[in-house]
Amino acid sequence: MTKQSGRILAAVLAGLFLTGCSLFKGAEPNDPDPVDPNAGTGIEEPAGSVDPVTPPEGDPADAVDPSGTAAETPTEGQPDASANDPGAITTPELPTPVVPDPGTSSPGEDAGTGDGLHVTDIRLDKYIVAVEVGKSDMPLVTMLPSTALDVGEIWTSDDTAVASVSTWGKITGISPGECRVTVRSTDNPDVKAVVEVMVVESTDVIHVKQISLDKYETTIHVGLMDMPWVTMYPTNAKDKGEIWTSDDTAVATVDQYGRITGVGPGTCTVTVRSKDNQDVTAKITVHVKIGEDAKEPTYIDGTLIVNRTYGLPRTYNPGVSAEAKTALDELIAGASEDGLEFWVESGFRSYDQQLSLYNTYVGREGKDAADRYSARPGHSEHQSGLAFDLNSFDDNFDQTPEGKWLAAHAWEYGFTLRYPKDKEDITGFMYEPWHVRYIGKTLAQKLHDSGQVLEEYFDITSVYAD
Ligand SMILES: [Zn+2]
Repeated sequence: MTKQSGRILAAVLAGLFLTGCSLFKGAEPNDPDPVDPNAGTGIEEPAGSVDPVTPPEGDPADAVDPSGTAAETPTEGQPDASANDPGAITTPELPTPVVPDPGTSSPGEDAGTGDGLHVTDIRLDKYIVAVEVGKSDMPLVTMLPSTALDVGEIWTSDDTAVASVSTWGKITGISPGECRVTVRSTDNPDVKAVVEVMVVESTDVIHVKQISLDKYETTIHVGLMDMPWVTMYPTNAKDKGEIWTSDDTAVATVDQYGRITGVGPGTCTVTVRSKDNQDVTAKITVHVKIGEDAKEPTYIDGTLIVNRTYGLPRTYNPGVSAEAKTALDELIAGASEDGLEFWVESGFRSYDQQLSLYNTYVGREGKDAADRYSARPGHSEHQSGLAFDLNSFDDNFDQTPEGKWLAAHAWEYGFTLRYPKDKEDITGFMYEPWHVRYIGKTLAQKLHDSGQVLEEYFDITSVYAD
């Protein structure tokens, strides 16, 4: 789905048929999640977005997001009535122009002279534009390599009766028709990029001419999801509705928003088609593998290890550890003596709760983004019952009195701050100043004294098998 349609769909869902999925993809990171994605992260969303995550029921350790999780109704945009009618088929009216592939329109950065001083490639943010007569548009230009000394541009139009272009790339519609606008490097005029320009009357409907995806191949596990980002060109096309299909639903299914779910091992092709112009498609090859859950939890010297390398079985479902909870109560009492207040935002999460949470994040932002801050099911430390997220899912928590106290004193109660800043490559997770893991006082003191995380102390990795 597209970012813009994401917002619109979120509005539709909020008002009409909340399905709790990736419609939130367009959300920007800015307000605390009710449940830390493993988790976690400081990723937040705007107040107007819909948050589909529901804190797990019956889990006293999981607090409800204090900012409120009720779905609000965004005001931007009105749903296109046809957006939910996959049966509607429109006949393409304009001939499809010769369209350059944005991904391969020019040689790579290493092509050409390759000395880093000369331009070898020109990239644009769009290769197809539609402008009304008298209106303008201007593609953004990136000259590569970034170290090139002369990044001057030469712009030309092959039909100035249709569209003119200024010396800095501002394309203006003159009369209805199609033409090509080319930008060349002053440094190396052989290096160029071409923009297909459609000039239309203000009353004309602008149709979709091309679809591009952020990726054309993905690998997912059975039961997990991915969601490609879609861009339809020209970006001001009127109807950017998407029709998604899978050519083998025994391998992967796809919903109307482009959320692909692995069903069974194999490879299939998922296609997105423009509702407006069904000749326009993009395809993604989907490889589905059977995820291999851990058979047994992994203990090293008596310490349970949960990270990207060491997972927990789906059946491992201990709830909050009584020992960890007792230690946490002591920590909270100790902080209270210093005038500080701690509370639990998120504690134990089952495998299935993590599965749901992970897929929710994938459905918002795609798998690549979700993997950066949300643990895959079986790989969240919260499933151990030994981890707690305290007070706030905000990176700036470490600047608060509570955050500073936690960093200084957690070890005294048998906890370690599991995901420090600067150790993301080692732990496999983004910085989480709010996430503590109970490991007992002896080991906690060792980690505190050495400045190590569990992975360093035990000399182990934290990397997904694929
Ligand atoms: Zn956490």
